[in-house]
Amino acid sequence: MQIVPTKVVWMDGKLVPWDQATIHVASHVIHYASSVFSGGRCYRRANGDPVGFRLYDHAKRLVDSCKLTLMADQLPYSVDDIYHAIIQTIEANGLVPCYIRPVIYRGYGELGVMSRNCPVNMFILIQDWGSYLGDRPARVMVSSRRRPRSDSMFMGAKTGANYQPGQYMKNLATMLGFDEAIALTEDGLVSEGSGENIFMVRDGVLYTPDLASSVLGGIMRDTVITLARDLGIEVREQRIPPEFLYTSDEVFFTGSAAEITPIGLVDTTPIDQTPGNITTLIRRSLFGIINGPDVEGQPGWMTRHGGWLTSLNLATE
Ligand code: PMP
Repeated sequence: MQIVPTKVVWMDGKLVPWDQATIHVASHVIHYASSVFSGGRCYRRANGDPVGFRLYDHAKRLVDSCKLTLMADQLPYSVDDIYHAIIQTIEANGLVPCYIRPVIYRGYGELGVMSRNCPVNMFILIQDWGSYLGDRPARVMVSSRRRPRSDSMFMGAKTGANYQPGQYMKNLATMLGFDEAIALTEDGLVSEGSGENIFMVRDGVLYTPDLASSVLGGIMRDTVITLARDLGIEVREQRIPPEFLYTSDEVFFTGSAAEITPIGLVDTTPIDQTPGNITTLIRRSLFGIINGPDVEGQPGWMTRHGGWLTSLNLATE
């Protein structure tokens, strides 16, 4: 998806015009990928109201990623500050629906691998971003690249550096005519897509790799597990052999960008039910909450309160 300039970018506490939102080439992040990020969505409900989906959880995971990269003690913002900065950025741009990309990174200080003497900077930009993998079932390949183990890199952190194998997988998959690739763990078990978690349905039971399978703890993954259990569907988070990818009744990706995307083909094997009944049930439940206005999901999932909502309505009318 091509980037389209918006009015402003939030940078280190200020709203900066799009063209001035730049960083210096000497910044540590350019040389050593010293960044963490997140990506959430703000929707517009059927009745016109803007709603942020699990934005507080995105801010919290961002701070957790800072802990895992030894940036948290130098980060001048709390989870609350980041959450409010996200809302301020959406409000200032008046762009709903939108995808929100906060990035925390090591800025301009010293050259060399040691980054503790480089400042911890942050920006937030938003974009009008449609469905990440398109509207038809995804065609995926199983990659020859493995997701590293968390004793090499913390795979539960959302760091820029963790996306190196992912970029290779995704680029090669699209060059070969697939939409996305799935990585296995270093033990050869199912892990996740380059930008999504993965679920499989077998005989009415929903499976997803456990958090020790080198996956990112996706906010949509957690949402889907919660919604499935609410629907009375049995969910198993466990180690998963790669055979499941080819022989499950339903397979789908989850992510804040990808939402719930059915998978129709793995390498050369078509998946029997695409989208299957359980995928459709969970999707309906998710969009019931997003579209509202009467269903809310779990406490704290939706941002739709106070002046923010009012001024956003004004800004987008
Ligand atoms: N795994 C990876 C590697 C991702 O990049 C993403 C997208 N952030 C996910 C899983 C899904 O995470 P979430 O549901 O929080 O968007």
